[in-house]
Amino acid sequence: MAGAPFTFSPPVLLHEDAVRELCRLARRGYEVRNKRETYGFLFGVVTGTGNVLVRRARSYRGGTRSMYGVCYPVADARRRRRELARELHQRYLGSFHSHVEIGGRVSRGMSTEDRRSFRDDDMSGIEAVVFVWAGLKRTLRPSPRSVVAYEPDTGYHYRIRVYGKYGDQIRKSRVRVQRSGVVIVY
Ligand SMILES: [Zn+2]
Repeated sequence: MAGAPFTFSPPVLLHEDAVRELCRLARRGYEVRNKRETYGFLFGVVTGTGNVLVRRARSYRGGTRSMYGVCYPVADARRRRRELARELHQRYLGSFHSHVEIGGRVSRGMSTEDRRSFRDDDMSGIEAVVFVWAGLKRTLRPSPRSVVAYEPDTGYHYRIRVYGKYGDQIRKSRVRVQRSGVVIVY
């Protein structure tokens, strides 16, 4: 079923705290033996100007995960994200998952399964994919359709992309980081 519970205009705004949280969660999945994807939920608001602002990210531990995907119990996941939305006093916006580098490769976009589960989830308006890989430091240019981060302590690179539902289409959305005033290098 296509459609979203809310409509919004790009760009999707990611609060800096949510960016940090997404990187931390992706890193956790990357560092375990037999790297695995991380999966969780995004919370925030739809602003007066019609943008989505993601303020918080929370991981969801239910289901099973592997290097290539996450399989979760839908009813339980929905219950959990309603709970979290109440606790955080934020609206549930969508989910996120990580794509980890395996043998030097990190899968680039949304897989067919990713698209299917996003499309079928009529409460999710956005889906973020967090790419994580280790590598030599080099300058990654942020583009209007992704947020990039580099972590000097670990040498990890991150790239966050956000997909949205536009009618029947799932498309990469423009994204912008909303800073909190703390200096951070992207
Ligand atoms: Zn995926």
